[in-house]
Amino acid sequence: MRIDVVTIFPEYLEPLNVSLVGKARARGQLDVRLHDLRDWTHDRHRTVDDTPYGGGPGMVMKPEPWGEALDAVLAAGPSAGDGAPVLVVPTPSGRPFTQELAVELAARPWLIFTPARYEGIDRRVIDDYAERLDVREVSIGDYVLAGGEAPVLVMVEAVARLLPGVLGNAESHRDDSFAPGAMAGLLEGPVYTKPPEWRGRAVPEVLISGHHGRIGRWRRDEALRRTSTHRPDLVERCDPAALDKRDLATLAELGWEPGPDGRFGRASRPVEE
Ligand code: SAM
Repeated sequence: MRIDVVTIFPEYLEPLNVSLVGKARARGQLDVRLHDLRDWTHDRHRTVDDTPYGGGPGMVMKPEPWGEALDAVLAAGPSAGDGAPVLVVPTPSGRPFTQELAVELAARPWLIFTPARYEGIDRRVIDDYAERLDVREVSIGDYVLAGGEAPVLVMVEAVARLLPGVLGNAESHRDDSFAPGAMAGLLEGPVYTKPPEWRGRAVPEVLISGHHGRIGRWRRDEALRRTSTHRPDLVERCDPAALDKRDLATLAELGWEPGPDGRFGRASRPVEE
């Protein structure tokens, strides 16, 4: 996969040389190219921002450097067909970045990220490229950061670990939180390693029982419990077809009941302790 990032802080993307993403780059599984937006400015101060039309606080990123930079990056590859890039625009006003979107992006050969600063990029840039490219405006969460570089690090790592051969054990994705399929998009439960006892705290007995059936059941129940507590919205959205009878019994204990459409909602009567 090829990834281009246009930014005024290429040095902020230094962590892309480290750990999983760094190794994927070194192995040639990921071709990451960083571009300094200021290379496409033409004034002495290398200006990338200006005051907003309509007034108000803050500055807005000028369209000209972005247009020239993106045209130059796009010229390096196909802009139509299967090889065409996806333009990923980090912004708090975008659609939420989810594991589902990470899976979708991981299947594409080329991603171009446009992390902004100030109050964001002049809208015309996004509108212009959206006429000829697949443009995704994406938010990594309901909070506002000072710039899009940290969101790019987040998204690149989430995508890179899904690329074939990047994770040592390809099975790891299957049990991850939000994984579709057997886990129905739920959160993963708690995990433990040696020693069997630490500070007087024992590992749950079932995990050292060697009984795979019981271990699998325990893990699923823990996943359901954690999801019910931390992310009830995921229980409401989960696909009932992915759940078995025991899952349904656990959810009922946790105070959930299926509605007429099969989707789960909180049981109307509080569950007695
Ligand atoms: N005024 C903008 C708003 O309220 O939507 C916020 C601009 S923010 C200070 C500057 C840049 O940081 C954004 O253009 C975007 O690139 C990035 N950014 C900040 N928060 C983000 C988030 N939650 N998700 C993705 N990108 C974000």
